[in-house]
Amino acid sequence: MTHVFHRHLRQTPPVAVGSHGMFIRDAEGREYLDASGGAAVSSLGHAHPEVMAAMHAQIDRLAYAHTSFFTSEVAEQLADELIGSAPEGMSHVYLVSGGSEAVESALKMARQYFVEIGQPQRTHFIARRQSYHGNTLGALAVGGNAWRREPFAPILVPATHVSPCYPYREQHADESAEQYGLRLAAELEAAILAQGADRVIAFVAETVGGATAGVLTPVPGYFKAVRAVCDRYGVLLILDEVMCGMGRTGSLHACEQEGVVPDLMTVAKGLGGGYQPVGAVLAQRRIVEAMSKGSGFFQHGHTYLGHPMACAAALAVQQVMRRDGLVAKVREDGLAFGRMLADALGAHPHVGDIRGRGFFWGIELVVDRASKAPFDPALKVNATVKKDAMSRGLLCYPFGGTVDGRQGDHVLLAPPFIATRQDLQEIAARLAASIDAVTRAAAAATAR
Ligand code: PLP
Repeated sequence: MTHVFHRHLRQTPPVAVGSHGMFIRDAEGREYLDASGGAAVSSLGHAHPEVMAAMHAQIDRLAYAHTSFFTSEVAEQLADELIGSAPEGMSHVYLVSGGSEAVESALKMARQYFVEIGQPQRTHFIARRQSYHGNTLGALAVGGNAWRREPFAPILVPATHVSPCYPYREQHADESAEQYGLRLAAELEAAILAQGADRVIAFVAETVGGATAGVLTPVPGYFKAVRAVCDRYGVLLILDEVMCGMGRTGSLHACEQEGVVPDLMTVAKGLGGGYQPVGAVLAQRRIVEAMSKGSGFFQHGHTYLGHPMACAAALAVQQVMRRDGLVAKVREDGLAFGRMLADALGAHPHVGDIRGRGFFWGIELVVDRASKAPFDPALKVNATVKKDAMSRGLLCYPFGGTVDGRQGDHVLLAPPFIATRQDLQEIAARLAASIDAVTRAAAAATAR
């Protein structure tokens, strides 16, 4: 009998007792190759000695001091590190305990900014369908995962959702990628105008979509067109890089590859690599200055803001990543990983699409490649892939996104950046075996 409120109340997962490098070990002595970094969290792998040493040193020095009384050396150092490598114009870092907190903070920062500059009528957010921004109520309100939103919809702040950038399902056959991106930007513009251009606070988007439709990479020019639309109406652009940021896609920030600079950007998972719960909002100077010259106070806060232990872990993770050139490694090995996945799964009859960048890949499973029809959700294909993969000693991150108004099946891969080519090959091979076994059984059940 467990007293832990597990997410699945009728199942108790295996007990994790140890970890090292690319592996997690359970109480039965089984070792799992970590192909998803948990939920795209582990960037340096497990039990990295330098990160552990930095945490030990920090706990001996200062474990906690509330930010209403003090700042800490380590929070200042982490903020310097992040601003030193941030997109142009970013001047301040708001340090929180995770992704949802980062998104909540960014939403409130954006709202307060407009209150401070005399535009309090701006009350509305626009975001995208098939997106995920976290499970707290504000983050859930801008999120566009229909299943996650459904029970809570009546208690969410209003937000408008426009189309995601999802070429596999939504790009028309007769339009180029560039035309598709412009069509989406025009849809955003229409949504802003429908709301009233002076009533919109921000457009919120994951630069590369993550945990709803299995890694959605933007088409070329999409974000530049989105940035132009936002600028035309004074709407802020909030990019959520909680999952896709901090090196995951082969550049430190995913937006670098799009040639755009957001007004606010959230990061989390890869920031601390799982060693501590930590997240951050990076803010443009003009937003911070408006608040500084106005009320002088951000009307928000949490008990564990800038927690010294979290900052120490994140600082060590980021320093090791920089010293070891891991972002460049992810970019290079990511291309090889994409080829391995294509070799292992590209011709599979139930693999509709393989897409990604760096160490961030999504595989979309379908009954039929020609029609792109998803499996019946009752077959629980994604959950079964996860279970089957675990039985083969592989951790991948499958989930059901919404496809054409119903759940679809996706597998997300986000291995730690330390993965060798041999590890990547092993991941592709074990995953292919799982996907093959599970989808063939599901297809047979579909045909009956
Ligand atoms: N934003 C994005 C893009 C995410 O992928 C997630 C988590 O998966 C979140 C926000 C929420 O982060 P957390 O689970 O740390 O609250």
